[in-house]
Amino acid sequence: MSKIQMTEPIVEMDGDEMTRILWKMIKDELLMPFIDLKTDYYDLGLEYRNETNDQVTIDSANATKKYKVAVKCATITPNAARMTEYNLKEMWKSPNGTIRAILDGTVFRTPIVVEGIEPCVKNWKRPITIARHAYGDVYKGSEMKIPEAGKVELVYTKEDGTQERELIHQFTGAGIVQGMHNVEESIESFARSCFNYALDIKQDLWFATKDTISKKYDHTFKDIFQEIFDAEYKEKFAEAGIEYFYTLIDDAVARVMKSEGGYIWACKNYDGDVMSDMVSSAFGSLAMMTSVLVSPHGYYEYEAAHGTVQRHYYKYLKGEETSTNSVATIFAWTGALRKRGELDGNQELMEFADKLEKATIDTIEEGKMTKDLALITSLPNPVVLNSEAFIKAIAEKLDK
Ligand code: NAD
Repeated sequence: MSKIQMTEPIVEMDGDEMTRILWKMIKDELLMPFIDLKTDYYDLGLEYRNETNDQVTIDSANATKKYKVAVKCATITPNAARMTEYNLKEMWKSPNGTIRAILDGTVFRTPIVVEGIEPCVKNWKRPITIARHAYGDVYKGSEMKIPEAGKVELVYTKEDGTQERELIHQFTGAGIVQGMHNVEESIESFARSCFNYALDIKQDLWFATKDTISKKYDHTFKDIFQEIFDAEYKEKFAEAGIEYFYTLIDDAVARVMKSEGGYIWACKNYDGDVMSDMVSSAFGSLAMMTSVLVSPHGYYEYEAAHGTVQRHYYKYLKGEETSTNSVATIFAWTGALRKRGELDGNQELMEFADKLEKATIDTIEEGKMTKDLALITSLPNPVVLNSEAFIKAIAEKLDK
């Protein structure tokens, strides 16, 4: 059998702990036997990030600008415990944060839906993808405790020194106050990433805010989305047969609960924070969530939504058997391969991505799965496989 050829590489960002072990197994068993895999490799494992003063993370993001498609393994975000464990020179920042700042993107999280792992919401038949605006609002807010009576105002001082004021509250006793902001440029990027991704996966896009109450702040989000949609995307959406749908956040939540799924739900920062956890837990498992960073400039970085599964890694180091779920990491690879195929007009590569996803889903639906899924499946008598055996079971299917 001749291997599938690639013309352009995918930027490969290796990572840490158990997911690093799975990463190698996936490449060895599921990718390299079938594809003449071309990657531009960056080791984002914590040891090498420390050795390069985190330059490797920056280099990998810049390479993504060049090649447009990246796939990333989960990585450790250092905390105090990791400082000692890895003898770090500095508490390096989250690689995801660094990469997102360079690529200026939006993260889309999608559950992988399989028969036998039923969502808690029984009418959800297709995945719901959450897009979270990852800049500003309450996450970059300023707060004050107001100890006693007094006046609190918003003050905007222009470059020329003139001021505009808006009364927040005339306090008669103690209270609290909060100020927050966003910038048009970031909202515009968010809107374009959402519209582009909806066209990409040919699904409707929903967006919701509380513009009836927040007549300037939230209304600006609504207006920017509408203006960009009308000017740049209306015709493309019509051609693709998809819709852009705006509603109030409370109405959106009510509709989501009653829907069948199968759309992208764009959320402001706080709404996305809350709703992405609700959606992922309702769909069954963190290990079955994929994630892609889409930049408005057309760069894509695919990864699993979960972390490095530290607890399993320590078992692995002790030589104990692990049953770690590799599905989301496999789907990170298929996402990147499909996108690479699309950009390069490589039909074979796109078809391979479909086949690998199907082999993975079929394996689970036949009752072979990792322990985390066996605990929640509705299938009778699931066969629990260890990390490696699960990947090998998929490989067997692929071979056929
Ligand atoms: P985690 O996602 O690794 O684990 C959370 C829980 O879910 C654990 O109980 C784990 O056993 C379970 N779990 C997650 N993925 C699983 C899988 N594939 N198979 C089976 N069970 C799975 O998150 P954590 O424990 O909070 O963090 C561990 C490390 O991962 C931390 O150092 C953190 O910085 C890092 N992290 C990285 C990313 C990323 O790179 N995108 C995201 C989150 C956490």
